[in-house]
Amino acid sequence: MYGAGEVQVEDVPDAHRIEPTDALVRVAYAAICGSDLWPYKSMPHDDTGRRMGHEFIGVVEAVGDEVRTVKAGDLVVSPFLWSDGTCVFCRAGLHSACLHGGRYGWDDVDGGQGEAVRVPQADGTLVVLPVEQDDALMPSLLTLSDVMGTGHHAAVVAQVSPGETTAVVGDGAVGLCGVIAATRLGAEQIILLGSNPERTALGRKFGATDVVAERGDAAVERVRELTDGLGVHSVLECVGLEQAVVTALEIARPGGAVGRVGIPENETAPTGIAFWKNVTLGGGPAPVRAYIEELLPDVLEGQIEPGLVFDRTGPLDEVPDGYRAMNDRETIKFLIEL
Ligand SMILES: [Zn+2]
Repeated sequence: MYGAGEVQVEDVPDAHRIEPTDALVRVAYAAICGSDLWPYKSMPHDDTGRRMGHEFIGVVEAVGDEVRTVKAGDLVVSPFLWSDGTCVFCRAGLHSACLHGGRYGWDDVDGGQGEAVRVPQADGTLVVLPVEQDDALMPSLLTLSDVMGTGHHAAVVAQVSPGETTAVVGDGAVGLCGVIAATRLGAEQIILLGSNPERTALGRKFGATDVVAERGDAAVERVRELTDGLGVHSVLECVGLEQAVVTALEIARPGGAVGRVGIPENETAPTGIAFWKNVTLGGGPAPVRAYIEELLPDVLEGQIEPGLVFDRTGPLDEVPDGYRAMNDRETIKFLIEL
């Protein structure tokens, strides 16, 4: 990406191992993320450009001398961040704060929207998938690299509990996966706030019991009507825009919790609303690596089907148009098949 709206597919030097803890992975499937649309909308032009992509499944081609848990030939999924799995934060399940971790596409690490990636800290990062590369579950397995784990994180932070009420703000891929997560954790009522009819229909399929298409004050009013005037126990904020954060806090009931995973538009939060209702406001970059082992069996057994958020598949050449289509909201999420 060279700037807002400027995405090109180019030849770059081949990915290669550098550290003994690295794996070299040939990418089989990758995805465009909603968070990739932030620079797509706003990045100032840069002649050097930026490698893009952080969600992928691939086959290990080679590993360094210190790698123990993956080997050449393994089919693996990577979380959207790499992490060692051993530091104090990884052991606490917060791999997104790993002391020796980092991001794809930066600091000599390739982006996932390409043919191959050097994966640092391979032992801590990669998870071997017990299926073949052409398995029909690939789209759902690919969501474990980001959107399904991120939706789950929002649900965990929002303290979704069996029999209680939940609202999900946002009908993008993460919000829809948040509906799956809330359903999975036993929420009784799941109110999806979103205005796109096709997306909210998918949300209902995933378990949403109510859809609120209104925005702002009208949405807050509607959620109150649906909850006997009380608001909901748990809110998953999956957008990040200031208005969405305000709505999330407004619809939480006193003593409730908001789990935010939308990348914040503003550094400040309207915490006054939360204070006067004793609402817990938490969340941040999801430690999706921590959740893969928990979510993987449900995908393998067909209990959840988050791969339905992919509504377009194409080769690497179509990636620039995939960005455009997602940015124009023609496409929920684009799956790249290499
Ligand atoms: Zn760590």
